[in-house]
Amino acid sequence: MPVTDQSELYRRLPSVDELLRLPEVTKLAGREGHAPVAEAARVVLARVREEIAAGTLNAAGVDLAVSSLSEALERQLRQATQLSLRSVVNATGVVLHTNLGRAPLAAGALDHLREVASTYSNLEFEVAAGERGKRDVHVQSLFAQLFAPMVGAEAGPSEPVSTVVVNNNAAAVLLGLNTLAEGGEVIVSRGELVEIGGSFRIPEVMAKSGAILREVGTTNRTRIGDYDRAINEKTRLLLRVHRSNFQITGFTEQPALSELVELGRRRHIPVMEDLGSGALVDLRSLGIAGEPGVADSLRAGVDVVTYSGDKLVGGPQAGMLSGRRDLITRIRSNPLFRALRVDKLTYAALQATLLAYVRQDHDAIPALRMLRLSAEAIERRAEAVKQKLQNAIRLSVEIVDGRSVVGGGAAPAATLSTRLLAVTCEGLSADELAARLRAWEPPIVARVEEGRVLLDLRTVFAEQDELVERALTAISKT
Ligand SMILES: *Cc1c(COP(=O)(O)O)cnc(C)c1O
Repeated sequence: MPVTDQSELYRRLPSVDELLRLPEVTKLAGREGHAPVAEAARVVLARVREEIAAGTLNAAGVDLAVSSLSEALERQLRQATQLSLRSVVNATGVVLHTNLGRAPLAAGALDHLREVASTYSNLEFEVAAGERGKRDVHVQSLFAQLFAPMVGAEAGPSEPVSTVVVNNNAAAVLLGLNTLAEGGEVIVSRGELVEIGGSFRIPEVMAKSGAILREVGTTNRTRIGDYDRAINEKTRLLLRVHRSNFQITGFTEQPALSELVELGRRRHIPVMEDLGSGALVDLRSLGIAGEPGVADSLRAGVDVVTYSGDKLVGGPQAGMLSGRRDLITRIRSNPLFRALRVDKLTYAALQATLLAYVRQDHDAIPALRMLRLSAEAIERRAEAVKQKLQNAIRLSVEIVDGRSVVGGGAAPAATLSTRLLAVTCEGLSADELAARLRAWEPPIVARVEEGRVLLDLRTVFAEQDELVERALTAISKT
């Protein structure tokens, strides 16, 4: 390539103003507004200048780029004005996928959210009295109804369970620790000092709460006596943390929740449990063992349970603290509560989600509906997709056994039997095929294993099956 003077190359570029004066660009500005079009013009010109500076363009290349500037500008404008947060198809089989937004909301939650948020609402207003009210009332009684059967249970609460809602479970843990143990010690088993999702670490949250972590036991074994011996006049709380996302197997020991509760009562120290996922239905009915629900903890006599709104509850992002009324009242009056509280969108979606539980309409909650799907039902849908792909000659489609994953901090062993579409495409590697699916509109996210793309329809909404089939057909033709 003949060495061209770079300043000569720059001179071939129009100025932003010249670009804006092109008839097609003027028209675009009339339609889309001058400011965003001018910004797009600056971006595309800067991009060509960068290429010149990097030495990747010769004179002919610059001329070519200049001739297509108005198209580049239009593309840039489209990209800049597109909403980046958007719907994707989850074919991973991970029901509560943190990267994919965890629980999809129930239709009833969306309806209620739209109704409440598109006008004014009684968020903090007692309509009958015409007075200022509290936002908590909108979920308090629904939670109390859900937990009513636990009241009076053997070790369970003696009066209705109270609940407050904050931004997420991390906030709930922080608020619980700060209220109940600031300046004092919190006893935790070493086996429960977990990190969740790369950023939630119990020791760090503890430090921020102003409570002092008192570790007991070892990573794999902690006995009730270890807690007992660690109690002193500074002890404020016994904390149990659900071991989300990992398992310790083999030579392990952990006191039963009931032992911890018994110890707490004997020594007059509250017990708080960070349950994480916090199911509101009995997962044993879905064949998932070892995932205790909120009701299990309350029935066992735990004083305060914290859990997420968008994990197994299947609602919006939120963090709940449910438990003994006196403790929840203290938590509610902590000034931090004001900083961590949730808005009307969350209350609207959460309230409608809880109502589905009260009505026992569990299939209204997408995450629960997906968890309850049988492998046979999934196979029937996979079979229908496979049939429609028969004529896509470059595709090879098989239906194979697999496991769907509960996710969202449920135990890694919490999996469900499923049937997967295993797809390969002649001329494309599995990674390439997966990338093409992700580039689809809307993006389809699948797993790649052993040289095949695996699609689990458990987490695909039934009405999206056709979309998956059309994407695969189209990709196989290009
Ligand atoms: C998921 C999880 C958290 C964090 O909850 P967020 O709602 O994501 O803030 C904390 N503790 C446990 C045990 C969890 O599983």
